[in-house]
Amino acid sequence: MNRRTFSCIICPNGCEIQVAHENGQIIEITGNKCPKGVDYVRQELTDPRRTIASSVRIAGAELPLCSVRLTKPVPKKDLFAVMEEINKVDLTAPAHIGDVVIKNVCGLDSDVIVTKEMERIS
Ligand code: SF4
Repeated sequence: MNRRTFSCIICPNGCEIQVAHENGQIIEITGNKCPKGVDYVRQELTDPRRTIASSVRIAGAELPLCSVRLTKPVPKKDLFAVMEEINKVDLTAPAHIGDVVIKNVCGLDSDVIVTKEMERIS
């Protein structure tokens, strides 16, 4: 049996959760103030996921970079591959919030979308 401490990131309470686990199964859990903490820990033990907020190059706008994010968290093990795809993007202004920059990035059922209005400068 293994023991591990997690900081729950689901809400601002940031509960410190102590877990005893074995083979991805929770055996004992303390410190969570609500059941969402149990779901969070279970996900972390079996399929940890993260989201990405980053930026891509853009031409023809006032600034050289445009901020983007993922629409859904992706498996932690795939973050590097996703960042490689994001780093390949070159946009041309205008770009609008919600524009899809990469659909279904790396086949992970998450899109990369624009999060900042970028108007074209003449
Ligand atoms: S366990 Fe519940 S109350 Fe605590 S941080 Fe997670 S979601 Fe918030």
